[in-house]
Amino acid sequence: MSDQAAVAEVEAEQPGADAAAGGGTEGPRFTLELNQDQRDIRDWVHGFAEGVVRPAAEEWDEREETPWPIIQEAAKIGLYSFEALGQFFADDTGLTLPIANEELFWGDAGIGMAIMGTSLAVAAIFGQGTPEQMGEWIPQCFGSAEDPKVAAFCSSEPDAGSDVAAIRTTAKYDEVSDEWVLNGQKAWATNGGIADVHVVIATVDRELRSRGHAAFVIPPGTKGCEQGAKVKKHGLRASHTADVHLDDCRIPGSCLLGGKEKLDERLARVREGKRSKSQAAMQTFEASRPTVGAQAIGIARAAYEYALEYAKERQQFGKAIVENQAIAFALADMKMEIDAARLLVWRAAWMGRSGQKFENAEGSMSKLKAGEVAVWATERAIQILGGNGYTREYPVERMHRDSKIYTIFEGTSEIQRLVISRAISGVQIR
Ligand SMILES: Cc1cc2nc3c(=O)[nH]c(=O)nc-3n(C[C@H](O)[C@H](O)[C@H](O)COP(=O)(O)OP(=O)(O)OC[C@H]3O[C@@H](n4cnc5c(N)ncnc54)[C@H](O)[C@@H]3O)c2cc1C
Repeated sequence: MSDQAAVAEVEAEQPGADAAAGGGTEGPRFTLELNQDQRDIRDWVHGFAEGVVRPAAEEWDEREETPWPIIQEAAKIGLYSFEALGQFFADDTGLTLPIANEELFWGDAGIGMAIMGTSLAVAAIFGQGTPEQMGEWIPQCFGSAEDPKVAAFCSSEPDAGSDVAAIRTTAKYDEVSDEWVLNGQKAWATNGGIADVHVVIATVDRELRSRGHAAFVIPPGTKGCEQGAKVKKHGLRASHTADVHLDDCRIPGSCLLGGKEKLDERLARVREGKRSKSQAAMQTFEASRPTVGAQAIGIARAAYEYALEYAKERQQFGKAIVENQAIAFALADMKMEIDAARLLVWRAAWMGRSGQKFENAEGSMSKLKAGEVAVWATERAIQILGGNGYTREYPVERMHRDSKIYTIFEGTSEIQRLVISRAISGVQIR
């Protein structure tokens, strides 16, 4: 169902006092009880996370390589596929996508990102592409179960991280050949260089800052699109991150997402001083924030569960350490913060899916809270495990390393606070 259709359905239901009062045949409108489909998907993803992802987590973290065999396993059961992503997204409550992400990242965040990294590029194609472009490129992002592929979304540059408007990669249109020519350097791209499909944000008019941006698909094997340095990371080490160089990279005119006519109209509106409806990179980020928050919650929950079991087992001073309030209260706080973060994620996911207006930057709130809870809770888990927590013999130190990226990518915590404070105050806070 389209966003508009979902909104129409919600609006159509609203005047019905019966349903609102809980007296209609559909029962009360507000519930946090998951339906059968949501529970089935949660259990299916959890089973894969527990049986396949978790046992492989330590190995791929140490190898710092893309876990292709695990991606292939996910593809074989249909979890790594456009159909699965489409099924998660199709839930008009918006909850299935965060639920699936939480379960997968509960298994392991590095492998989780190796599997889910493709979805950022898919979201860009889905959000900005024409139906023909979606049909052509989205299946290629995943490849097949026998030969899975990954995709990359390349927005950040060495001098344009939080300041997305500072992007320098240029896209120039060659009318003679009906091609776009891209030049520039992208930084920290998840799956950058190993992807079949790269979605690249480039500027077609630097004077217009972010309003002069557009998104392009770089087809597999295009000359002039090369991987630069692979980044050695603190966490998420099973997920590949690298620079991408674009040197006179020529792509067909049809690779501009949304098409040239739409871009020309948008640029003309902006040049006339009218507001533009879309800013290519920001649109993609806004739609994906609650999902990213759910990944952070998966890590936090994994660390909390591990610490809880450990605290019940570990004996000091003749009793289990959980019998000390200092430990038990820390666990109580961890559980409460994780549940609170999840509620913010579910709210934002529901708002996004049902077309509610984000008046107070609720999407940013959800990602901010979840990311900070994940860093805090995984650090608490290390403390509860004591010396063991600090070693690579136990998984919580990996979870802590993995969690840290959630206060950095998809908008740092500071940028989320900026977005929220601007939304609530109406003041252009700097
Ligand atoms: C593992 C990993 C995967 C990534 N994957 C991708 C990807 O797939 N695609 C992609 O395009 N990018 C990706 N990135 C890049 C990521 O989105 C950026 O690192 C992030 O946006 C922050 O940008 P930056 O690193 O340049 O930090 P900077 O923007 O330089 O920020 C540095 C510090 O200054 C603060 N700061 C900056 N501006 C302000 C301000 N106005 N007010 C207050 N504080 C401010 C920041 O919050 C931060 O604390 C990835 C990064 C990593 C590490």
